[in-house]
Amino acid sequence: MAFALPELAYANNALVPYIDELTMEIHRGRHHNAYVTNLNNAVNGDAALEGKTLEELLADNLAIVPDAKKAAVRNNGGGHFNHSLFWLIMAPNGQGGGGEPIGQLADAINATFGSFDNCKAQFKAAAIGRFGSGWAWLAKKADGTLEIYSTPNQDTPLMDGKTAIIGIDVWEHAYYLQYQNVRPGYVDNWWNVVNWNTAEAIFNGAVTLTF
Ligand code: MN
Repeated sequence: MAFALPELAYANNALVPYIDELTMEIHRGRHHNAYVTNLNNAVNGDAALEGKTLEELLADNLAIVPDAKKAAVRNNGGGHFNHSLFWLIMAPNGQGGGGEPIGQLADAINATFGSFDNCKAQFKAAAIGRFGSGWAWLAKKADGTLEIYSTPNQDTPLMDGKTAIIGIDVWEHAYYLQYQNVRPGYVDNWWNVVNWNTAEAIFNGAVTLTF
């Protein structure tokens, strides 16, 4: 079964004024779509890889992937996972997007970081501190506690056994049309479209993501 580009649950212009319509259109339709195409090209026809889930491919730092395919699966499999999650954990402001964490995730954020404001400050530091392209994450470790960190390129928490709860794409393609070089402004505005209901469902195990 081939990997597929997921549909958005909202329109390309639904995240305006925080993320512009053309960025959404190009980001999913071209960038994400290329990761899906290249991932399928890497696994299709390879007996060791075809039919494996994304989780199986990426787990344990791509342990099951032959060396010759590791870079392709790492970049494109990570890209497919990260972007699929990114669309899901956003929603239009006031229609599921924005506000504050809820439920068990809110409790864990307060326990780990002291407050949501502290969590946001650490997350922003991770996002703007990532030199070049990558992501910043709020992730759940195997022991159930939270961690904020960033990954380069399309590396994803799945690769080191963590569960990504929310993540922000800080590749320039994610924000350059609207924000140009002002990555901190993009990060600040992004909180207005974070879907905390979905984040809570991922954190408490109500949903298990399969892309
Ligand atoms: Mn991207």
